[in-house]
Amino acid sequence: MTKIRYLDIQRMSSEDGPGLRTTIFFKGCSLACAWCHNPESIAKKFQVHWLESRCIGCGSCDNVCPNQALSRDETGVHIDRRLCAGCCTCVAACPTLALECKGIDAEPEELCRELVKDRAYFGRDGGVTLSGGEALLQDGAVELLRLLKAEGIQTAVDTCGNVFTEQLQAALPYTDILLYDLKIMNDAEHQRWTGRGNAMILRNLGVAALWAKGNGRLWIRTPIIPGATDSVENIRAIGDRINAIGGAERWELCAFNNLCNDKYKRLDIDWAFQNTPLVSKRHMEELLAVARSTRACEDIRATGALNEEE
Ligand code: SF4
Ligand code: SF4
Repeated sequence: MTKIRYLDIQRMSSEDGPGLRTTIFFKGCSLACAWCHNPESIAKKFQVHWLESRCIGCGSCDNVCPNQALSRDETGVHIDRRLCAGCCTCVAACPTLALECKGIDAEPEELCRELVKDRAYFGRDGGVTLSGGEALLQDGAVELLRLLKAEGIQTAVDTCGNVFTEQLQAALPYTDILLYDLKIMNDAEHQRWTGRGNAMILRNLGVAALWAKGNGRLWIRTPIIPGATDSVENIRAIGDRINAIGGAERWELCAFNNLCNDKYKRLDIDWAFQNTPLVSKRHMEELLAVARSTRACEDIRATGALNEEE
């Protein structure tokens, strides 16, 4: 049986589709966006985090790593990510849970049983969202969606779109809402900021739009990242594309924040966006006006916190 590798299950979420939802974050992604809010979801392999606040400096993790990836000095525990194989031996050695293993494997049936427990608060609009990482890269995603639909649960899939078209098509019959990321229209810029060009994403967008014109619901989401995606030209180009393909119910401009700073620290990554401020209200209003001028769809809105003072 195909297992699903995931990071976490988040309950009572109001940001991953309509209503109140339970979101499962898959591990592994085909993009590596420089601003990613879930950096621990990019690699599919298990990863170890060191939490400084829990560490008592006992030394129980010294010399347990079979790959000599873990070291300790007066500044704390360090993990050489090039050597770490994600075996989690060090996690078992730590008495205070200062070392955490990121990644859980479970069968779709097991996950479905867990997710349907939240049925009581889904109401008419809510349900389960598969997010990540990129859920559609894992075969188990389709089976999980099928099981949830059989339980009468409304399903949403949050996708970066950079998957084989067959992977998207396999999921659509069991998906009620597709949350589809469109980040950057210029291919070279897309490659620069996410590690991949956007040809596959734009091709799959056409497939998603056709499905939405049947009886699916398509929400487009654009992260507004200062210096990367937030130019008037980019927003206009995305809006023109959404308008041209049709079928979208909503387009969200999602404002950047750097609340995930600690996640990067725990992965020993020097994050380029760690000091990037919130998007100003004035700039978001300008982008919203541009987006609406393209008549991309009926419902165009901004989400996330803004700097109200600028
Ligand atoms: S997860 Fe395994 S390989 Fe990585 S640092 Fe810990 S013991 Fe070493
Ligand atoms: S075993 Fe845990 S608490 Fe002890 S030094 Fe290592 S990380 Fe810190």
